[in-house]
Amino acid sequence: MSQPRKRVLLLVTPSSYRSGAFAAAAERLGIEAVQGVDVPPTLAAEWNVPLGLDFADPEGAARAIERYAGAQPVDAIISVDDSATVLASLASRRLGLPHNDPEAALAARDKLPMRRLLAAGGVPVPEFAAYPATSDPQALAADLSYPVVVKPTQLSGSRGVIRADTAEEFVRAFARTRQVIEYAGQPAEGAEILVEEFLPGFEVALEGLLDAGQLRVLALFDKPDPLDGPLFEETIYVTPSRLSETTQRAIADCTAAAATALGLRTGPVHAELRVNERGPWLIEIAGRSIGGLCSTILEFGTGFKLEDLILKQAVGESLGEVSREGGAVGVMMIPIPRGGLLKRVEGLEEAEAVPGVTGIEITARLNHPIVPLPEGASYLGFIFAQGDSIDAVEDALRQSHERLSFVIVPEIRLAVTREAARARP
Ligand code: ADP
Ligand code: CA
Repeated sequence: MSQPRKRVLLLVTPSSYRSGAFAAAAERLGIEAVQGVDVPPTLAAEWNVPLGLDFADPEGAARAIERYAGAQPVDAIISVDDSATVLASLASRRLGLPHNDPEAALAARDKLPMRRLLAAGGVPVPEFAAYPATSDPQALAADLSYPVVVKPTQLSGSRGVIRADTAEEFVRAFARTRQVIEYAGQPAEGAEILVEEFLPGFEVALEGLLDAGQLRVLALFDKPDPLDGPLFEETIYVTPSRLSETTQRAIADCTAAAATALGLRTGPVHAELRVNERGPWLIEIAGRSIGGLCSTILEFGTGFKLEDLILKQAVGESLGEVSREGGAVGVMMIPIPRGGLLKRVEGLEEAEAVPGVTGIEITARLNHPIVPLPEGASYLGFIFAQGDSIDAVEDALRQSHERLSFVIVPEIRLAVTREAARARP
């Protein structure tokens, strides 16, 4: 007799990039995947969503998951991105499934408790201080040592993260970050803004899996474009890293120490670190896997994707030895050069034809507004590449990107048209 199929609950938002990748992995592994979607329960029935959950109310949503699982038991609960990591841990605790403590899940999403726990745990982090977002930056500016980085505590994707080299720049950056927080739908009252020492250095991202507190490194990405500000747009990720074995080990140790300091014990982690002559420094560690469509380029053992490994571990299957296959690979998150309406993408064929490029996905929708940093929360799309060497992969991504051109028209035209219409007799 075959074992009963395992069932996992995937927590997704309607805008999650990764639902498809997780669903495909579940299918490959013979695991049943059910989606818990962040939609108002009233709409859930209408949209034919089996389980609608309000992610903004994690306690209530955790109870709803418990009721659901009473009728249809689940073996694991996975948040596909940052949006429901706390909910996944609360619900897993109710159901007695392996999980991170909700406090750890929260600290992995909120940069202020994260900084405090990392510093207390002896993990190298920049000097930091937090101020109410409603503070007068003029009053703070004189006491800071520049350069600093100003950032929201609860956003992601570099939104509102701004470098300031002088008091004057700080005053502007602080005000701008406060605007970004409000733009993201959070009232400035009650919000805090983090001000950190700017850490110079080379940046990497580590993709890992925690199992009973032990970190397994799945991939270490270099970010070869300098990230020196004033904004910190993500662009190219390549792996394997060009850094020495010794430095890579130090990065892994620093990440493991960070997970321990936060209390993260199980499931995927995505960490970002800066490396300089004083060693690795923890920028942040999240209790989720890499975002966007970046995981597409990762392959392990015999044809497993990152999502397969996450699912297998979550349902308690042993992973054995896993190592990344596929040689040098890379992805470029295509930044939004300016705001407006995306009308057209030109040069796609030429960009796809660059040797080494394995695919391009334009994820921004045509005729929809696109918003650049510091407010914007998305990319135009992704370029994927594979090659004989890291240099070749990086080159392919750059050449491909050069061949793409994005026709973006100012959104203002719409307003003008409307005004013109109104002005008509
Ligand atoms: P987010 O969650 O929005 O990605 P991060 O804290 O990871 O916010 O910051 C985004 C980027 O800004 C980082 O990847 C890094 O390049 C840069 N950055 C953030 N904090 C610092 C710092 N203290 N020193 C130097 N660069 C920083
Ligand atoms: Ca980050």
